Amino acid sequence: MLFRGGRIFDGRESLAEGFAVLVEGARIVRVAPEAAFAGYAGPVTDTAGCTLLPGLVDCHVHLCYTGSADPRGTMQKMGTGQIVLTMLANAQKTLAGGVTAVRDCGGKDHLEFAVRDAIAQGAFRGPTIRAAGRMICMTGGHGNTLARVADGCDEVVKAVREQVHAGCDLVKIMATGGVMTPGVDPRDAHYSAAEITAGVHEAKRFRRKTASHAQGTQGILNAVRAGIDSIEHGIFMDEQCLEEMLEAGTFLVPTIAAVQNILRNADSGAIPPYAVEKSRAVAERHRESFRMFHRAGGRIAMGTDAGTPFNRHGENAQELAFMVDWGMTPPEALTAATSRGAELMGLDDRGVIADGMAADLLLVRGNPMEEVAAAADPSNHIAVYKNGTVFAPH
Ligand SMILES: [Zn+2]
Repeated sequence: MLFRGGRIFDGRESLAEGFAVLVEGARIVRVAPEAAFAGYAGPVTDTAGCTLLPGLVDCHVHLCYTGSADPRGTMQKMGTGQIVLTMLANAQKTLAGGVTAVRDCGGKDHLEFAVRDAIAQGAFRGPTIRAAGRMICMTGGHGNTLARVADGCDEVVKAVREQVHAGCDLVKIMATGGVMTPGVDPRDAHYSAAEITAGVHEAKRFRRKTASHAQGTQGILNAVRAGIDSIEHGIFMDEQCLEEMLEAGTFLVPTIAAVQNILRNADSGAIPPYAVEKSRAVAERHRESFRMFHRAGGRIAMGTDAGTPFNRHGENAQELAFMVDWGMTPPEALTAATSRGAELMGLDDRGVIADGMAADLLLVRGNPMEEVAAAADPSNHIAVYKNGTVFAPH
């Protein structure tokens, strides 16, 4: 299939007009000026008036959560089989929403590994999934009802080994309190520096990526100093955090949609009150941290925390609009949502439109480099391609 006639954002920048993209099977085989395809006689997709982008990459989702007002409560009412089918449905909604790769940052009893593997083997359509397995937290820590609870360096190391043994792609470790767990304060550091360092080092020994839920200042520092790959949320970042993250090249995955969707639906009456109250308390600092990190040139990868209240799978692209609202240019937001995300996830052949890359593509109406809604609003999506095959949007 030759895509020609419209604009191309290649994952880093807008290509000059008049470029075309040739896809054969699951791969992009050539990106070149249209004239280079003069003798081509195969099928063509006319993209005039549209923009071809890499499929979006969401570095923070929870496939086990539905995006209901009380996702944990919803899941507790489901049996195991129902949870697995829900995860698969959520993965397919995500792909339909233009997202061709996701990082699951905390699942349920490793059930998401089965979904990941079935999709990777071609049994079902869905996005590329990288999964953390069970989050690791201290006694009473953020996410403790779902997480592997571990205290002390030895136990944290054991918890990491359990995830590796079960087949995780990354390890997710909880450095601080959070919004969605009652009785914890997002500003508090949870794991000690020694515990988090032990866990991160064990994960790295087995070449796993590492991500830390880190909202409070000290917890962010503990995670960065342990060598974490990404700080999730990063709400109470200060100058010291900023300096050390820039120095270490740590990614920030801001998950603006998580907090904003709670605030937008605060009056629904259905979200647990502690989550609304804490979201209100952190929202302004969240924005300041994002702006500070962005202005300083830090590496930002798009993540939504999809599955949290009113933060629905399939609506992930809205994060692009939030990032632009908070100060990114549209091309910067698109970069965070494509090549940067793939880089954080270690997906070497995705997130960029170039010769030899996987044909994970999103075709949208209009020009998202000028008006980000062209990509952020799924009603502007024309087609999403996973490994070269179109996946019909809802
Ligand atoms: Zn999360």
